[in-house]
Amino acid sequence: MELDTVIREVQTALGITADGKPGPITWEAIHEHIIGQHALSVQPVEVTGGTVDPRSEACIITLHPRVQPYARTLVQRAAAAGITIEIISGLRTYDEQTALYAQGRSKPGSKVTNASAGYSNHNFGLAFDIGVWQSGKYLDDSPLYKAVATIGIDLGLEWGGNWKSIQDQPHYQLRPDWAKDMPESTMLAELRRRKDSGLAFYA
Ligand SMILES: [Zn+2]
Repeated sequence: MELDTVIREVQTALGITADGKPGPITWEAIHEHIIGQHALSVQPVEVTGGTVDPRSEACIITLHPRVQPYARTLVQRAAAAGITIEIISGLRTYDEQTALYAQGRSKPGSKVTNASAGYSNHNFGLAFDIGVWQSGKYLDDSPLYKAVATIGIDLGLEWGGNWKSIQDQPHYQLRPDWAKDMPESTMLAELRRRKDSGLAFYA
């Protein structure tokens, strides 16, 4: 077996991007898996300000104030790398999530989500989805999603393409510090509790 194949298999098993290159994220994941704690604590880079295209802005404005600059910076940094992206989805209310969950279940169409109301980070404004455009054409499947992920992960965002169960390459979320080592389900339960109690999500 070739060395890069070995590295890819290890990366896949760790649930990180399988690019065959053993960089800091790979070593962090190996360390965490074997030693059981974070080692390098990959520092989030500083996010920039300013506004982006109107379609993205319409979604960004629905996001938690803490998440908004991350979404804008991702659009700007992708553009700087020659990749055109827009933010195409932001906050989804519980009602909107319920309607989406019904699709392919009690309503016609194919299933689009496994999350019912309160079980998606979109319901708290902590998550957003991107679309990639090339020559004015929307691409729903492209290696460019992975290229953007490198930028997003550098910013400190969590990428849906790294999920072990259902991979969601357009999806990004900003995990609160208190949820750093929590399973997704535990974090969502705490977010629902905080929402019900009117408590801050990031405090
Ligand atoms: Zn999403």
